[in-house]
Amino acid sequence: PNPPYREGVPDQYYKPAEPAYTPDRKANATFVMLVRNSDLPGIMSSMKQIEDRFNRKFNYPYVFLNDQPFTEEFKKHISALTNAPVEFGLIPQDHWVQPSSIDETRASAAREDMVKNNVIYGGSVPYRNMCRFNSGFFYRQELLQKYKYYWRVEPDVKFFCDVDYDPFLLMQDQQKVYGFTVSLYEYPTTIPTLWDNVKAFIKSNPDFVPADNAMAFLSDDKGESYNRCHFWSNFEIGDMDFWRGEAYSKFFDHLDDQGGFYYERWGDAPVHSIGAALFAKKDQIHFFNDIGYRHEPFQHCPQGEAHTKGKCWCDPGQNFDYEWYSCLNKYDQLFR
Ligand code: GDP
Ligand code: MN
Repeated sequence: PNPPYREGVPDQYYKPAEPAYTPDRKANATFVMLVRNSDLPGIMSSMKQIEDRFNRKFNYPYVFLNDQPFTEEFKKHISALTNAPVEFGLIPQDHWVQPSSIDETRASAAREDMVKNNVIYGGSVPYRNMCRFNSGFFYRQELLQKYKYYWRVEPDVKFFCDVDYDPFLLMQDQQKVYGFTVSLYEYPTTIPTLWDNVKAFIKSNPDFVPADNAMAFLSDDKGESYNRCHFWSNFEIGDMDFWRGEAYSKFFDHLDDQGGFYYERWGDAPVHSIGAALFAKKDQIHFFNDIGYRHEPFQHCPQGEAHTKGKCWCDPGQNFDYEWYSCLNKYDQLFR
């Protein structure tokens, strides 16, 4: 079709529209957003950017999950943002609430202690439910069973660059299981006994750990101690069949049996990261360098050519990659 010429407006102000993108193949993939009804403005902001930067062209579906029923208002506003299919799921109570096997006296004492020590979210039970859910239950939800790959999106994040290729197909074609944009150190007070439990698990299940794993990302002394590096899980592109597999499933159950999601405040970021780094091969973990991304208070801004190619709008000088608190150098070292 002709561009919409208007009388009196010089031709050079019009560029013909890009031809519609018709992919010859697609991955079996979905976006996943775990949110509350009150997160509506923040998740609309994130989703609008996903649509504009990537998905208006690729049309991957969305799955929204919540421990409470989504309101009609929520569903209406979300569905209006996309042409892609959108589904809304209610999380079963037993995938969300603190299990009855947890000693509440011990758990509440731990919370009070963390509040006194100003541990972020240290007093919160819902935050712990969320971390446990993201660690071991999201990929078991009914609405996600039909999908293999997922892209996790949180409220109020920013996507700075155009994503003109299909990251899900990259995962599939290169047999990746986990993709990240930002990595950093975990707060030690949230995971006092996590590493001891990891060590016990791999000692009794050595066959789950391939030779070319990414232990060197997690530990500076060959596994003796945890250096607290993890991939920031508010952004994830991953293979749910990896989480559903025997190694990670048994690993999660082992951790869950210890009760550390409640007696401490284990996050889904270190749990996923340790799982991916130990039970996958190191080259199955992908750094999405070309996806410019911000979740407060850190951002990854592509540098140089990648910035130009993605038409990124972030300031290249504002980039967490090699700041002192970033773990990207440890990821790089895996491949040296
Ligand atoms: P932070 O990034 O660690 O500060 O934690 P967030 O508050 O962003 O929570 C992480 C993710 O879980 C976000 O997608 C939230 O919307 C979601 N989330 C956190 N708590 C709850 C909750 O109680 N219910 C539901 N449905 N989602 C939650
Ligand atoms: Mn967040």
